Amino acid sequence: MTEIIRARNLVKRYNGFTAVDGIDFSVRRGECFGFLGPNGAGKTTTVRMISCVSPVTEGELVVNGMDVCREARQIKSILGVVPQEDNLDPDLSVRQNLTVYARYFDMPRELANQRIDENLALFQLVEKQHEPIWALSTGLKRRLIIARGLINQPKILVLDEPTTGLDPQARHLVWQKLRYFREQGVTMLLCTHYMEEAAHLCDRLVIMHQGRILVEGSPAELVEQYAGREVAEVRVSGPQRERVLAQMASRPGLTVEEVEDILYIYARTPDGRAQMADLLLESESVSYHQANLEDVFLRLTGRGLVE
Ligand code: ADP
Repeated sequence: MTEIIRARNLVKRYNGFTAVDGIDFSVRRGECFGFLGPNGAGKTTTVRMISCVSPVTEGELVVNGMDVCREARQIKSILGVVPQEDNLDPDLSVRQNLTVYARYFDMPRELANQRIDENLALFQLVEKQHEPIWALSTGLKRRLIIARGLINQPKILVLDEPTTGLDPQARHLVWQKLRYFREQGVTMLLCTHYMEEAAHLCDRLVIMHQGRILVEGSPAELVEQYAGREVAEVRVSGPQRERVLAQMASRPGLTVEEVEDILYIYARTPDGRAQMADLLLESESVSYHQANLEDVFLRLTGRGLVE
């Protein structure tokens, strides 16, 4: 698979504040590449530079062989952008929103109508096409914003938190559509802080924090490397806590993270669950789960509130 986006030492500063602090990554053609991180990590700033709406302060950023500083217009023609906010035109109908958007791409009217019909059908919006925007639910608006981003048949679809605020049914429908586009060979960039979404959709991802990339890999690789197989969360105090911590030293397959009165114990070996059960035998308030991307995220970016 070839590289479609390359960033080298990419920096973005706003009046001296560094929002993106010298990051490197490459996105392969046809993959879904995720940007994860807490609020303020620099995800949106990064995808806004890729989308040529925010100028690069320093470094190299090449999209489909073109430099974002010199070839913004050509890059925009191959991008589909699904922004975080609802920026549909409230005075226009569903169909009119798509028609107006298609004009940005200088498409002949017939081709635009054909693409609009295809996308309305794909996103199950045909019956709603003459409705005003205010009459749509959040889920329908999201589907329309994604449909709109696909009007120019983009090579790269940039999605900034595409399912925030959706109920589980609407979220699963969006995921299903996004998987379909990935199967069609569309490269996708996905900013999200839903770990389940990233695990579901991303082939590879980076976790960002304070403008930097902390780690990069597939969801499975990251889980294995940073969280292991199983996690126990246990509330213990006093001598019992001291005993558990003291015994950790003789159990090389286990690692511990202390967060206030809670211990998170991570097991990487197949017998990890048995080892943890043995260690935590007397504790009532223990719960176990299979290690997941959320554990990786919280271990790397901290469990405290960012804002
Ligand atoms: P994320 O998408 O990961 O939540 P952002 O890229 O939106 O993070 O923001 C990264 C940092 O840059 C934040 O501290 C944010 O306040 C700051 N920032 C974003 N846009 C601007 C701007 N236009 N002017 C000044 N600071 C900004």
